[in-house]
Amino acid sequence: KVNIFWFRRDLRLNDNVGLNQALKDDLPVLLVFIFDQEILKKLPKDDSRLSFIHDTLQNISQKLQDSYNSSIAMFYGNPTEIYKNLITEYQIAKVYTNHDYEPYARNRDEKIGKLLSENAIKFETFKDQVVFEKEEITKSDDTPYVVYTPYKNKWKERFDASKLKEHNSIENLKNLVNDINLPNLSLSDIGFIKSKIRVPKFKVSPTLINNYEDTRNFPAIENGTSRLGPHLRFGTVSIREMIKKAIAEENEVFWSELIWREFFMQILWHFPHTKDKAFRPKYDRIEWRNNEAEFEAWKKGETGYPLVDAGIRELNQTGYMHNRVRMLVASFLCKHLLIDWRWGETYFAEKLLDYDMSANVGNWQWAAGSGVDAAPYFRIFNPTTQVTKFDKKLEYINMWVKDINELTYPQPIVDHKMARERCLATYKEAVA
Ligand code: FAD
Repeated sequence: KVNIFWFRRDLRLNDNVGLNQALKDDLPVLLVFIFDQEILKKLPKDDSRLSFIHDTLQNISQKLQDSYNSSIAMFYGNPTEIYKNLITEYQIAKVYTNHDYEPYARNRDEKIGKLLSENAIKFETFKDQVVFEKEEITKSDDTPYVVYTPYKNKWKERFDASKLKEHNSIENLKNLVNDINLPNLSLSDIGFIKSKIRVPKFKVSPTLINNYEDTRNFPAIENGTSRLGPHLRFGTVSIREMIKKAIAEENEVFWSELIWREFFMQILWHFPHTKDKAFRPKYDRIEWRNNEAEFEAWKKGETGYPLVDAGIRELNQTGYMHNRVRMLVASFLCKHLLIDWRWGETYFAEKLLDYDMSANVGNWQWAAGSGVDAAPYFRIFNPTTQVTKFDKKLEYINMWVKDINELTYPQPIVDHKMARERCLATYKEAVA
């Protein structure tokens, strides 16, 4: 008999709640990862996130082979079908895994749970990727918070640093199934090639945390933010460890950003329809212009507004865009060009290394004005004064828009004043 631990967005051995629980049980543990064909079929062949997941799994598996005479069993296909095969191949007592909150994942886990219970196998799932999940932080009448600041206050009130224990599994890794020849898959086995874009290492030093408040708004500063995004997304780092670092430096600002992540996660959990519908329904009445040629220009970073173009070009080349610039680029698409936020959200989802449905949808709806705690619709970023405020010496712009002084660099795609008035009139018509 064996127990299974199923990796999903928690790709690490240390401080992994579900894995730690599985290893404490008394049966050998088989580690499993499934490349879900439903998810993979929508991705480009050189998808950078997939390369990162694949590399991470290979590194973990190699470490397990070298030190624990074990490895990760990797599969490709439909998760329910794969579990049906695993059930015939192994005598499974329990399947352990960590919670996954996205609508697709919830549905998948429900099906797997049903299949396992029909076969008298227990499905044990754990909270791992957040400090507080689901209904843990709600208002006194048990309804979800839809405004960030009171959510954050309640989060902090409930938070008890002494309970933030480490779920250390390393010493129990000897309890893994001893087999170094479990099925392994190369990128080409699953129809992919290696991406040229790589996930950078994150940096969460005391210096970074302490300077964060002063550096985080300036995209030209090299280590101004942590670059934790993809690591939190795929679980190559533990959120508990990062929160501990923020507390150790007594840094409210950095800590608050990590709470924003949980705020949007609970919003998507409570309101799964917001993945493609406005949180405030009347915002779905906006008459978007949705001009295809303008959308193409935005996607190429050819709007003629240098800070917008720099952001998009950074995204296209690296899979990353600085938060300050994300806010401007998103606002510009929705408000200056009156293009549906869902178009922009989909484009970011294709490109961002740190793409996460809850954060992406939440922030896009914030920019469009349609979401929880959103920017009011009449707040329209001025793409020129944003340069003066956040890239005064044009260092960031010069990094990404090399052709800025050439005749070929486009003229502004829209006049700011005209676009502003057009936006106000269109939004007013729909929502006022
Ligand atoms: P840091 O500034 O070092 O912040 C540390 C961590 O805090 C981040 O890694 C992230 O996990 C969390 N965080 C910070 N700001 C936010 C925020 N506003 N919302 C939620 N979490 C936050 N973030 C994503 O993780 N995935 C996305 O798909 C995503 N899409 C976005 C789309 C738009 C239009 C905008 C305006 C923002 C988006 N963000 C998204 C939020 C933010 O831009 C990124 O988290 C941040 O830029 C990542 O860089 P960092 O890790 O260096 O951040």
